[in-house]
Amino acid sequence: MRKETLADPRRFRRRLRQKANMPVKYVSYELGLERAPTFPDRVYVESTNVCNLDCIMCPTGLHIDTRPKGFMEWDLYTAIIDEIAPFAEAVVLHSWGEPLLHKRIFEMIEYAKERDLWVETSTNATRLTEEASRRLLSAGLDRIYLSMDGLTKETYERVRVKGRFEEVLGNIERFLELKWKLGSPIEADIQIVRLSETDAEVDEFVRRWQRSHADLINIKELDTWGGQIEDVSALAVEEEPPVNRQRRPCPNLWYHCHIHWDGTLVSCSRDYDAVTPLGNVRNGGVLATWHGARMRAMRRWHATGEFCAKQCVSCTEWSWWTPQPFLGGGTGGKAEKVRTEESVGHQPRTGAKPLPVLSGRGGPE
Ligand code: SF4
Repeated sequence: MRKETLADPRRFRRRLRQKANMPVKYVSYELGLERAPTFPDRVYVESTNVCNLDCIMCPTGLHIDTRPKGFMEWDLYTAIIDEIAPFAEAVVLHSWGEPLLHKRIFEMIEYAKERDLWVETSTNATRLTEEASRRLLSAGLDRIYLSMDGLTKETYERVRVKGRFEEVLGNIERFLELKWKLGSPIEADIQIVRLSETDAEVDEFVRRWQRSHADLINIKELDTWGGQIEDVSALAVEEEPPVNRQRRPCPNLWYHCHIHWDGTLVSCSRDYDAVTPLGNVRNGGVLATWHGARMRAMRRWHATGEFCAKQCVSCTEWSWWTPQPFLGGGTGGKAEKVRTEESVGHQPRTGAKPLPVLSGRGGPE
């Protein structure tokens, strides 16, 4: 445990609570309990589902989502953070939109940081101006995923439709330069999604970004959102294996919590349209909803081998990580992470945090 945690009784209690939560959660997952005295370690809070790009692998970009568009209101956001801060480890501020389109995103980050949460988000970097970069860095964001799906202009603009390659590249390079100059401890991950359009460029992409001020290169495997969208599944490089043999309950339901901008709680990102709403945190709060009747029913279905919610039927995400007794789970994506020369060869900058343990799993939603 780090020194500053030991010296602060509030932090120390919180850390103990988190440590104790893990084995209890593990047992409740292994036994398939609908309810246990546990809490989610990772809370996904959708700042907005509005986006300015039309990416070919995304339900928002393909305009097939039917949920109303909106931005999370400040009062709902602060109520969520106030409630989860005493126990949760991380809050993730993106889901189905571009977080930098939310007018108060910087304040949202600051608010969560003041309450000692690990905060991360992902951006398409179209709005990553110099001012936005400085504000993100000074707000104390812990991790950012910078989406740059392609090494070349042609590929990038075929995948991230409406994105302008030179502009986004310039924004990302300036952000990384600022981070480096200011000695910011933020972890900046440059990301490419592996799909049919990008596959041939992945190796060169890694070589190019290894010589940058990014910390990690995140090669994210295509998420087909539970195989619900034919056009997205068609982009897969390899055919997904059949899912129903030896299927086990999905750890997401015991470990994570996903809240849409209007407060609707859902199982995970694959329920992008909230076809299986599990309650609304406006009615009683995050924990009450997460332990509520609908969430319990979802866990019961999984524990008894009924993967009947629309998003779960053909999903393979459950197989991407396996809970451990004393460790948190996956981070919602299947990815390979490669260190850059910056993160390997240089001395840690002042105030720099150690990078998290690397694994073959994990990545942003
Ligand atoms: S099985 Fe897939 S769709 Fe169902 S809760 Fe898990 S990740 Fe979500």
